Amino acid sequence: MILNIAETCGATRALGPGLRAVAWVQGCPFHCRGCVAPDWIPDRPARAMSPEELTEELLADPGVTGLTFSGGEPMEQAAGLAEVARLARTERNVSLLCFTGHRLETLTDRPGPAALLAQVDVLVDGRYVESRNDGRGLRGSDNQRIHYLTDRLRGHDLEDSPRRAEFRLRDDHTLLVGVPSPHVHAAWKRLTEQPSREKEPS
Ligand code: SF4
Repeated sequence: MILNIAETCGATRALGPGLRAVAWVQGCPFHCRGCVAPDWIPDRPARAMSPEELTEELLADPGVTGLTFSGGEPMEQAAGLAEVARLARTERNVSLLCFTGHRLETLTDRPGPAALLAQVDVLVDGRYVESRNDGRGLRGSDNQRIHYLTDRLRGHDLEDSPRRAEFRLRDDHTLLVGVPSPHVHAAWKRLTEQPSREKEPS
């Protein structure tokens, strides 16, 4: 079982309670207008990782207390991610938060998604609607629902909490971590879509 992973982040406080490691999968069947991660929509090869490799990477920071799966569309690789969650929990008692563009009701009778849902503590479901990005909570737009599938993270108000976003500078690209408000998203687009300027001769 091989996962197709767009990016990982070893430790952040921008995608759920506590210190969390994040995996974003490559490929999404939806094409939401204004998607914050359009490069991760195409179903193309990215990083091929076994569940064991991804688990090891996500647990590398000993301070991490939770995992977040996003994308792309995690339910497209649900069986592999379920295995990552299972492996991670044999080593550490991490919480699991997962984003999906699907609605919860449509997932429960499919084997892969059902296996992943059995591990998830909080599911954020539904398509992103750009005009309904109200800048609040751990969801891109207010039509998306936050399901507490276990009691583990129930004490955290994920619907109305202030948002946090981080820009990470990598060797050859910049990574946005978090659920951006419209203001932050616009700043991010200006930053990443700016044409590179050639040095003018003096
Ligand atoms: S479901 Fe998420 S990743 Fe997929 S297009 Fe919509 S916003 Fe982007």
